[in-house]
Amino acid sequence: MELHICHLYPDILNLYGDRGNIFTMKRRLEARRIGVQIDECSIGQPLDIDKYDLFFIGGGQDFEQEVLLRDLAGSKGRDIRTAVEDEKVFLAICGGYQMLGQYYKTWDGSQMDFIGAINVHTIGAKERMIGNYMFRTTPESSGSVIVGFENHSGKTYLGEDVAPLGMVLKGFGNNGEDHTEGARCKNVFATYSHGPLLPKNPALCDFILQTALERKYDTCEPLGPLDDTLENSAHDYMEHRLMHG
Ligand code: GLN
Repeated sequence: MELHICHLYPDILNLYGDRGNIFTMKRRLEARRIGVQIDECSIGQPLDIDKYDLFFIGGGQDFEQEVLLRDLAGSKGRDIRTAVEDEKVFLAICGGYQMLGQYYKTWDGSQMDFIGAINVHTIGAKERMIGNYMFRTTPESSGSVIVGFENHSGKTYLGEDVAPLGMVLKGFGNNGEDHTEGARCKNVFATYSHGPLLPKNPALCDFILQTALERKYDTCEPLGPLDDTLENSAHDYMEHRLMHG
């Protein structure tokens, strides 16, 4: 078995070590002796979606998102939409999450039209939503407690056909209003949680990998356990700090 991963715009959308999610997926696949190939695709480079099982998009500021608009307006935006329709697996963080949605209206009134691969939209607020935070994913997305870090001014609202990735336990999540966090639609996993998402939350990492393997190979044995002592102690420390700190 093998997964082929595409890291989209790694040089543009690369906040807070979001790339660590790629390292974590690679390490957890290799530990199970499952093959993994990782390619990068950035501005001006053609994207062959048929090659890939899993796409990763990190976060970026409004400026970086704007830089990508022209590249997405060509065939790449259409190809990403097709890959989502085709139930390829996506993990998208913050700016990358917003970019999969319909549009982002910034707080000073300008609007970026994004690719509309998932039915969500984002409205900028003057006050940023920043800090360590925590949410519980829905049973359809592993049903685990996720500890993470968010930093965004965009408030994202989910369309009727889009489920949240989870519900906020501490912090802001999608918009600080409806307690939802992230989005789950087809095989898109989208979240505001930056950098240490998968390293500190191995259950979600395995769930995403399992989803990609099942889609590719139809049936697939559940991934065997790994020694997650360090990962779990980092997770549990943050969970305790957020609950009682
Ligand atoms: N530019 C977006 C916002 O501030 C995304 C930021 C990010 O990816 N951290 O809402």
